[in-house]
Amino acid sequence: MLIDSHAHIYDEQYGEGGADKIISSMDEDGLEYIVCVGCDLPSSQTCVDLAKSNPRIYATVGVHPYDADTVTDENIQKLRDMAKVCDKVLAIGEIGMDFHRDGSDRQLQLVAMEKQYDLARELHLPIVFHQRDSYGEFVEFSKTRDYPDGAIMHCFSSSREIAEYFVKKNFYISFSGTVTYNNAVNLVRAAEYVPLDRLLVETDSPYLTPMPKRYGLNYPKNVALVAKRLAEIKGVPYEQMVRITNENAKRAFRIK
Ligand SMILES: [Zn+2]
Repeated sequence: MLIDSHAHIYDEQYGEGGADKIISSMDEDGLEYIVCVGCDLPSSQTCVDLAKSNPRIYATVGVHPYDADTVTDENIQKLRDMAKVCDKVLAIGEIGMDFHRDGSDRQLQLVAMEKQYDLARELHLPIVFHQRDSYGEFVEFSKTRDYPDGAIMHCFSSSREIAEYFVKKNFYISFSGTVTYNNAVNLVRAAEYVPLDRLLVETDSPYLTPMPKRYGLNYPKNVALVAKRLAEIKGVPYEQMVRITNENAKRAFRIK
């Protein structure tokens, strides 16, 4: 059984009742768990609600860098409350820096990430990081910080060298559909390096649909296509890749 370690099943692109449909087909889709990831206050609360009412859904709570200006002390308190009242909140995230889009203030993103990093340390939770076009800055940030409760680099999109740095920093490296794309030369090199016990698979649904379905809406069941590609890259049987990434997800997120 597969675990999709990063999905946004509450996304409005799935339409009315979309999350419920995804959840009710998990058995036939071969999915054991879905980690439902928050990216702002309302979606974090939705993740918590979905986790509370569905045994095979887990939640993370956090604010994505594009909403960095909402990371006030008051909202940090709300994230703290969400994480404390529900033991199915597995991590703080997704948080980080994203310099892909012009116009979102970099300094503000850094401060928002710092505050949520501090919250994760306080609560002894792992962190789900979103980094895009910001790996150099994130290495700088990480030089003075540790990740004793672990961390997940979601949708890894950098080089082998960067992967090496973060594996040494106690990170799990999570690959999404982007590793299946034809031009994913650097990502394949990074995946060749990442030790088997540090690999995670995710879909980031509804985004980043893997090949060969690339241009449709993404669903958690497509995590199988990511695992299949990683099995090829690592030269291990598919069933073994499924078992390994399942065990890794349970260890990274402390799912019992
Ligand atoms: Zn995401």
